[in-house]
Amino acid sequence: MDAHLAKTDTYHLALSGRLTVTPSCEDIHVSESEPRTLIEAIRYFSDPDRAFRFVLDLRWPNGSVRCPRCDHDEVSFVSTRRIWKCKGCRKQFSLKVGTIFEDSPLGWDKWLPAVWLIANSKNSISSHELARMP
Ligand SMILES: [Zn+2]
Repeated sequence: MDAHLAKTDTYHLALSGRLTVTPSCEDIHVSESEPRTLIEAIRYFSDPDRAFRFVLDLRWPNGSVRCPRCDHDEVSFVSTRRIWKCKGCRKQFSLKVGTIFEDSPLGWDKWLPAVWLIANSKNSISSHELARMP
């Protein structure tokens, strides 16, 4: 992996599963309150609403959610279940659909601290470091 890959790019990489580096002008909104340590990251992302908004901002930074299956932009959000219904293909999708996390039963509260750790580690992370996560 490119050593100069920015933190945001790493998040996008993890979320898209493709080596697509997005333009660096993109500014994520979490910088001020962004966690500094792993413990902070775990606390930070343990709030499901916060974790949800964090991923939402990364995936659709301009707020216009599109269907990952048919790319239709007319979707309705079901806030109680945090899913969308597409008016194009009439299927439902969650934030995970179309990402490498799609098939994982783990919630964002488990994934995001790991992604955060990778994005913030200066050297490449070892599996031992991940294993030591509390
Ligand atoms: Zn669709």
